Amino acid sequence: MDKYKKNNILKQQGREGRYMAIRNLRYQGDDILKKKSREVPEEEIASEKIQSLIDDMIETMHRYNGVGLAAVQVGVLKRIVVIDLYDDHGPIVLINPVVIKTKGEQEVDEGCLSFPNEFAKVIRPAEVVAEYTDRDGKRMRVKAKELLAQVISHELDHLEGELFIDKIIPGTLEYIEPEKG
Ligand SMILES: [Zn+2]
Repeated sequence: MDKYKKNNILKQQGREGRYMAIRNLRYQGDDILKKKSREVPEEEIASEKIQSLIDDMIETMHRYNGVGLAAVQVGVLKRIVVIDLYDDHGPIVLINPVVIKTKGEQEVDEGCLSFPNEFAKVIRPAEVVAEYTDRDGKRMRVKAKELLAQVISHELDHLEGELFIDKIIPGTLEYIEPEKG
């Protein structure tokens, strides 16, 4: 991505005209990734601090072409996850998410923004039903399958300090070098 494009992205506005910022990612080997995140009190969701964090998480996920990001990955131990499958729905924000039910299994290729260039096969549930609070403070329920079920499962693991690298199918880890230039 060239600098011109990058500058344009940095000028994008979030909710209520706030400027969004790209936050530093935490990477493999950083102890914070193994820590459990704390619930966000419902009365804090509308605060500038939490809303800005959400905007920045979405911006950071987009910058690194991720489909999901947990707050712990930008160094904040709060139970907040953002997901974007780059479809018509747009970004989904899950605060204090809880898995209600899972069904079946799928074997999937997976990576993680905290493990750049590492990919492996992992078993995830084929379907996930989860409840969460959205950024407007409404309690919501999502019934997910395929990629969305995979991403929800991966991101909710982050909130428990669990990493995909610890549950890969042995022998499937691959290192893919980024393209130069
Ligand atoms: Zn991850």
